[in-house]
Amino acid sequence: MKKKIEEDSKSSNSLSKRSKSKLTNSEELHRIEMKQQDPKIRITNFEEVSLGLTEEMVELETQRCLQCGKPLCISGCPVNIKIPQFINLLKEKNFIEALYKIKADNLLPAICGRVCPQETQCEQACILNRQGEPIAIGYLERFIADWERKNNLKECPECAAPKGIKVAIIGAGPAGLTCAGELAMNGYDVTIFEAFHAGGGVLIYGIPEFRLPKDIIKREIETLEMLNVKMEYNSIIGKILTIEDLRDMGFKAIFIGVGAGLPILLKIPGLSLNSVLSANEFLTRSNLMKAFRFPKYDTPVKIGKIVTVIGGGNTALDSARTALRLGAEKVIIVYRRSEAEMPARKEEYHHALEEGIEFQFLTNPVRFIGDDNDNVSQMEVIKMKLGEPDESGRRRPVRIEGSEYLIDTDTIIIGIGTRANPILTKSIPELKLNKWGYIETDENGQTNIEGIFAGGDIVTGSATVITAMGAGKKAAHGIVKYLQEKYLEKK
Ligand SMILES: Cc1cc2nc3c(=O)[nH]c(=O)nc-3n(C[C@H](O)[C@H](O)[C@H](O)COP(=O)(O)OP(=O)(O)OC[C@H]3O[C@@H](n4cnc5c(N)ncnc54)[C@H](O)[C@@H]3O)c2cc1C
Repeated sequence: MKKKIEEDSKSSNSLSKRSKSKLTNSEELHRIEMKQQDPKIRITNFEEVSLGLTEEMVELETQRCLQCGKPLCISGCPVNIKIPQFINLLKEKNFIEALYKIKADNLLPAICGRVCPQETQCEQACILNRQGEPIAIGYLERFIADWERKNNLKECPECAAPKGIKVAIIGAGPAGLTCAGELAMNGYDVTIFEAFHAGGGVLIYGIPEFRLPKDIIKREIETLEMLNVKMEYNSIIGKILTIEDLRDMGFKAIFIGVGAGLPILLKIPGLSLNSVLSANEFLTRSNLMKAFRFPKYDTPVKIGKIVTVIGGGNTALDSARTALRLGAEKVIIVYRRSEAEMPARKEEYHHALEEGIEFQFLTNPVRFIGDDNDNVSQMEVIKMKLGEPDESGRRRPVRIEGSEYLIDTDTIIIGIGTRANPILTKSIPELKLNKWGYIETDENGQTNIEGIFAGGDIVTGSATVITAMGAGKKAAHGIVKYLQEKYLEKK
């Protein structure tokens, strides 16, 4: 799909004659830049880094859209938002209709407008990307969602008449929330069971406030509540209730969207020293347990002066930037590949550099060293070079023997990835999993057990918010078809 998008966006085949002439004219207009907090100031607070677009900026940006006859941006979006249509409505200043247009396909626009990796999705596919200046689709999506909030509006799509059929969703991350919304709009009676005391999944416990304010997640979840979706928090399915309990409670279909939240740790000496943390623990303690609001919340995290973070994805960058804001004087990211292979969103990498995070590329930890009190004090690392591509297609890092050196550090945060948490899957022994413990499904999200569907990171492994949402939506369509055939057509 990615390759196809790249090829399509290089050709002009998808353009009508009108769009081709507009393309030539559009060269005079440049992509809008979003204002941001000054890096020196923002590292002292947890307020949002990016400040959004003004109406004037939206006016300029929407003029650049070519309104392609065959819009590639839509196929670049996993939930297929009607991008040219909503941009056109924005251009006409018909903000309310633009909002409806987005919400018909995506109930979480304020979230996606902030955290989607648009540069590898809709914006990569945009024909203007050929000139390196795709339409700022994410910024426009964020603008319209923020406009709704600023104007104290709470719009939600129409629901079909109630069908009187109960569906359970396990996990309130992007996959579960999207599946729930889609089913509610189709008239199903939906309850979400969530292990934590708040909804949002990684959005709430992983992604920090300065990228995605918690209030925004809360508000987008309220849209679901307006669709009559019920939330059952503090409910670990597989421990407090089982799948059988849910069936006994009358749920006719179940969607599993429990994510892949189990941290992967390095198997090297010194792992059990004090102040060696997984990024999941560190971010959860800051975001969900509110260490970032200390002293208002009496739940601080001790980090010391120098913090070293291992990894090159969003999780590692979020940990590093959080540590800086919690008071670290120096934050170093150690990544075993080069800058080019970093999976983090480009914008976040750029922000991290502006904030003074130090990157040591092609560097891998060998061991963690402690002081007499078993507190971590140093990390031994080794330099790497890139070899042949591995199964992921990226060039494999290879050790350069004899290149070891020491980094002084007070805290080490390991953000090298996560895998499937077995709590739920272990409680359903007949559920088919792959060798890594992820749930196997067909193209409709159906598992090997009748009436049980799954989607998001628990099926694909760690991916993105929008791919999890796309999976939730697809599974919802699968559930609708299943319930219609099994219960409604017989009535
Ligand atoms: C720190 C971090 C930053 C990221 N940044 C980005 C980004 O900028 N852009 C992007 O697109 N992606 C990002 N990602 C990835 C993205 O957040 C995930 O791919 C996405 O959240 C997956 O959605 P999900 O619904 O499958 O799972 P999750 O978001 O993990 O949600 C699963 C939910 O299920 C609940 N749950 C688990 N087990 C049970 C159980 N037994 N019973 C009940 N509930 C249960 C969990 O508590 C959780 O709320 C980031 C990930 C991390 C960790």
